[in-house]
Order: sequence, then structure tokens, then C-alpha cells
Amino acid sequence: MATSQPLSEDAVLAVVERDRPVNRTVDLGLFQVAVKHGDVAGWGDVQVGETLGRLFKAAGQEPGLASGVTDRQLRLWLVYATNMLVGARELVPGFDVKKALTWLVANVGGVRPVLPSAVGREFELTVLGRTGWLRAALRGRMQQKRLTEAEVKRVAGFYGPPAAGGAGGQGVPLKGEVLRGELLPKLYRHLTDHIAQWYRPSGVEARFQGLGDFRVIAEFAQAAAWSMLQPYVAANENSPFFTGFTYFENVFDKTAVMPTDEDIVKHLMNRAHVVGEDTTGGQSIFAVAGYDSTRREDRQFLWDLLSEWSKEDKARRAAVYFCRHVGSNSHGEPGGGIGLVTEFKTDRPFSQHRWEIVEVIVHEMVHTLMHPDVKAKASKITRPLVVLEGFVEVVTREVFNWMIDHGDDETTKRLMIGVPGPLVAPARKTTLGYGAAGGYADDVLGAVGRERFLIGFMTGDTELLGLPA
Ligand SMILES: [Zn+2]
Repeated sequence: MATSQPLSEDAVLAVVERDRPVNRTVDLGLFQVAVKHGDVAGWGDVQVGETLGRLFKAAGQEPGLASGVTDRQLRLWLVYATNMLVGARELVPGFDVKKALTWLVANVGGVRPVLPSAVGREFELTVLGRTGWLRAALRGRMQQKRLTEAEVKRVAGFYGPPAAGGAGGQGVPLKGEVLRGELLPKLYRHLTDHIAQWYRPSGVEARFQGLGDFRVIAEFAQAAAWSMLQPYVAANENSPFFTGFTYFENVFDKTAVMPTDEDIVKHLMNRAHVVGEDTTGGQSIFAVAGYDSTRREDRQFLWDLLSEWSKEDKARRAAVYFCRHVGSNSHGEPGGGIGLVTEFKTDRPFSQHRWEIVEVIVHEMVHTLMHPDVKAKASKITRPLVVLEGFVEVVTREVFNWMIDHGDDETTKRLMIGVPGPLVAPARKTTLGYGAAGGYADDVLGAVGRERFLIGFMTGDTELLGLPA
């Protein structure tokens, strides 16, 4: 039987020393910030009290109210944060330090007071992120890097041809019979190709992954995204990482749920765009039909068409099966969440399917990281999937490959928890999903560059992505 040895006093001291805040330069990716936490570490109660009084005064409050903050950890957190913001103010011309200090005082009840340490950067990312310093710093950096007119024009081409019903309101009317005659059969093939991956001869039992096993993957994916997407992800003051977002708590088993009629049509709309925008056989069906997704009446026509089609027996069986075997993210909608497929595919090794699940888990999480202002632009362009799915795929590739590159044998073992059979080595993600939409998203990335792309995606500065105003 193992006996646990209490830590010696020296060992405890070593831990305290290790975590003791010090003066150092913190690496935030694009920024190196010199912090003077060590100066604060030696302060006594009097000095802490005085600083808090000054903080409250700067925030427009009665200084005496500072004594109302009695929790020792919170008091220290506020003092470290104030000291850092005042020191970092000069690095960003025009940074509104008063506003930032006001934010601290107003939100002190809602923050998790992680104190600065000698090595980590959790404290710095939280304070500089939530108070708007990081966003201001990125904005300042981007002032010299706005897209030129020629670049905007080039990128606009990737988002699709100009809207047919655009200026003047004239434009090609929608040919509904083309959607009915060409899109529906192609969509049906798209669904059945997907479904074929789970084909079982009669008598063979389905095999399932434990939903609980996905927790390990989800936690790793979330930590990886937080670590490797800095400073971009912390530059969104309302980033889900700051507002108590715990990925796994929003996950449900897609295979076990019967989709509603509305769910079915939503899934079909998504796939109708994949099929409709496909140009591998020449002109896309949407182009031939004159379908313009920025026109409300075109979207309504397609919705009604799919709704009616999904009531036909054969189509419905395929659509229901499809819905239960594809990941989805409706987090943020009432009753929504992140749906994952638990049933193992039958046409490949189980471990290969698990690697795909890892990628899906990252993809669905990245949906949650897209700034709402970026998402809103999808309705302004004629290839909405470039933004809605292609952009998500760009960031997914970054995070997924980081996980593979930084994972050791132990990580692999954890990611493969509950998977029977031989282990297939992970393959880095090189291409983007969602057909043409993924390709155009990659073109956008190539044209604007990684830095502009990630700042635009996370902070909602949609101009950096060349999206229409
Ligand atoms: Zn998606």
C-alpha cells in the first residue's frame, strides 16, 4: 500500500517561491509585456489599502468603498491588476486606462482571481484581455496594416459573385425548377455517401463510443485553443473562455437524439449549400439556378423546398440518419449545444474514426470562438459557407495540428480512450472541409495573412477579412 508523504517545509517553501510573482517580461505572442509584480509582492496591508483607495477613486467611486472588498485574494488581485494596467498603459497610445480600471471595480465580483505567478500568464491574459488592453494593442498594430483597395477587391471575389438582387434591386430571378431537378438528387447522393460510412450487414451490431470519453478530448482541445491562439483569443473581452465556457458541459450525443423537423431542414440547408456551390463538375448548381443566398426570398424558397422534400419517405430516412451521424453546433440558441456522433464508423479502423472525432470536437468548439460580428456578415455574401464553415476550418486546422504536434504518447493514449483495435497514427490536417467553401476560406487566409485573419475572426474586426461593410 502506498503511503503519502506530507510535503516537507522546504518543499512547501519551494512551491511558494516558484509561484511568487516576480518582475519579468511576459510573452503574449505578438506582445512582450514587462510586468512589475515583484514590487507589489512585498507590500504590506497599508500600501494595499491605499492603492485600492486610489483605484476606486480613479473609477469614479468613493475611495472608502474599497474597504468593502474584504476577500484577501480579491484585494491582492485588484492591486496586481491596477499596477500592471498603469504600467502597460504607455505601450498602447490612446489606451483608456480609466475605463479599464472602472471595469475592474465594476466586475470584481464576477472574476476568478487567479494571481500572477513566476511562470504562467493566466493572470496577464485575463486582466489585459478583459479590460480591453489587448484589443486596443491589436487595433493599434493593425492601423498600419489595413487592407488596400486592391486587396479588398481580390478578397471579395472569394466571397462570391456580387448579389443578384443587389444595387437597383434587379437581377436574375431564381429558377426554382433547377434546384428541384438538379440540387435534390445531388443532395440525396451527398447524404447517402455520408451514411455509407456506417453501413452494417444485417445481424452486425453497432458499436458506440462513450460520450464520457469525449470529455478528455474536449478538455484538451479547449486548453490547446486557449494556449495556441494567443493573443487573439484573449483580445475578445467577451470570449467564451472568459465567460465560464466549459466545452464539455454543452455536449450531447447526436446519435441518441431524434431530430425535430426544424433540425432536419437546418441540416439540409447547410448541406444544400455545400452541394449547390460545388464547382467540381463545372458551373455550380446555384450559379445555374441564379440562387442568391443574400436574397431572403431565395433562402425561403430553398427552405420550403427542402422542408417539403424531407417529408418524402426515402429522403426523410436519409436525412434523419444523416442528422444523427454528423456533428453540429447550435450552442447559443435556446436548447442548443454541441452534438457529437457516438456510433463508430464501420468502413475504417476505430482509431482512425476517433482521430476524425478529435477534429470534429475542435471544429465544433471553434464555431463558438467566431466573433458574432463575423458570423453576421455571412448573410451579406453570396457564399455564406466560406465564413460559416470555411473560416472555422481554417482555425480548426491550426488547433488540431498543434494538438498533434504537441501531444506525446500519453496524450495519444488519453485521446484514444475506449477505442478498440490497432492504433492508426494521426495525420496532420492539410486541407479544409466543406468543399469549395473551405478552398475559398484558404484563399482568404492566403490573401490577408494569418495575423489579420485571426484578429478579424476573434475580435470581429471584419474589415481585416475584407468582408463587406
Ligand atoms: Zn461546422
